[in-house]
Amino acid sequence: MTEVTEAEVREMARQLVADVPPDQVDQFEFRGAQFDRGLALVQFPEGLGGLGLSSRRLQTVVDGELRAAGVTYHDLNINPIGIGMGAPVVLTYASDEQKQRLLRPMYTGEEVWCQMFSEPGAGSDVAGLSSRAVRDGDEWIVNGQKVWTTLAHVSRWGMLVARTDPDQPKHKGLTYFLLDMESEGVEVRPLHQITGEAEFNEIFLTDVRIPHDRVFGEVGNGWAAAVTTLMNERVALGGGVPKKGSGPIGDLVNLWGETRDSLDPVTRTVMRDRVTDLWSQAEALRLTNWRARETSKSGNPGPEGSVTKMMSAEMNQRIYETCMDLLGADGMVYEAGYERKRPTGLRGPGIHPRYAFLRSRANTIEGGTSEVMRNILGERILGLPGDVRVDKEIAWADVPRN
Ligand SMILES: Cc1cc2nc3c(=O)[nH]c(=O)nc-3n(C[C@H](O)[C@H](O)[C@H](O)COP(=O)(O)OP(=O)(O)OC[C@H]3O[C@@H](n4cnc5c(N)ncnc54)[C@H](O)[C@@H]3O)c2cc1C
Repeated sequence: MTEVTEAEVREMARQLVADVPPDQVDQFEFRGAQFDRGLALVQFPEGLGGLGLSSRRLQTVVDGELRAAGVTYHDLNINPIGIGMGAPVVLTYASDEQKQRLLRPMYTGEEVWCQMFSEPGAGSDVAGLSSRAVRDGDEWIVNGQKVWTTLAHVSRWGMLVARTDPDQPKHKGLTYFLLDMESEGVEVRPLHQITGEAEFNEIFLTDVRIPHDRVFGEVGNGWAAAVTTLMNERVALGGGVPKKGSGPIGDLVNLWGETRDSLDPVTRTVMRDRVTDLWSQAEALRLTNWRARETSKSGNPGPEGSVTKMMSAEMNQRIYETCMDLLGADGMVYEAGYERKRPTGLRGPGIHPRYAFLRSRANTIEGGTSEVMRNILGERILGLPGDVRVDKEIAWADVPRN
């Protein structure tokens, strides 16, 4: 098939906005139409939300057109884990029937997804996890505990990794399941973050039954699907190409505009340098991501997403630390309110810097810590010697643990 051109994609996006005016329909209708026209994820096959393009490059054109037309829906707010990580996993590992069933409601946000990897004893070393799945005829019975599970309280589907063969080394005895969160035996309890909100949860799984046809990939080869999920997660977290000067850096520039006249001349000079420096770095990262998207091929990303994930996480923290310095003592007053609520989505930029400062502390932990990102960068991109791993070849059951 000949690839559609940039001009054709642009015209398709404009036609979508003309036919389905975003200010007259709800999120589900608009995003459903976007999916049906192949403008959701252009690199996905036709009929599954895409146009079958060989790269994600033209998605930037679609996103830009929709933004210019006032469309505010953002994948990160609608269904961050589903769209960022679930979609590529479904495309790679699910049956054709499952792809048809799962992708559209995932994209519209009718069915939110969560990622059930981390456990109290397994985070950075997620391959060491302990939740057990045992085969029982055409079903699996799962018992265990997951933790830090973002948006599990509003999720319909969970991407679950559990141990199916403890006698294999840790990476080899894992299996990847699609869990219906409405199943009996799934208990979701809130965990509150420093912001007061409970975006994430702990989950207790007690004799939960999962049909065998909800195994993604092969039994015992769940690590491959887990890596697919994690690589896509890092691109989703760090690979965005927002509008120039928008996002966290936009928050800082706005605050600078509001506060600079109240600063004494020396502080103003120092802070102007910091703001300018951060603006340049944010723009360099944005352009790097843009270039990566321009040259990307369809298919799953490799370790390079870990680099921009790490850079954007650390930059967010520096940006909001600078916001706090601009606010001075006012930065300590949490005027936005400290609600202990359970949000139904993740908040985007444009929120008060006091909230964003607290939330950004998690950026260097979620999706893999910066230390772990540096290990991946060193080992898999720069080819440096590997981290010390003494348990890699030992049966998981024989590895001492607390
Ligand atoms: C806001 C938020 C949302 C999250 N959402 C989800 C989710 O939806 N689903 C999910 O499964 N998980 C989720 N997580 C969990 C996240 O993936 C883990 O917290 C993360 O991988 C770190 O694991 P840990 O917390 O167990 O820390 P640990 O792995 O115990 O790490 C503790 C410290 O040791 C360091 N460390 C560990 N190993 C190494 C090493 N080899 N080399 C150098 N330093 C090392 C770490 O960098 C860290 O500083 C979320 C976390 C946060 C903060």
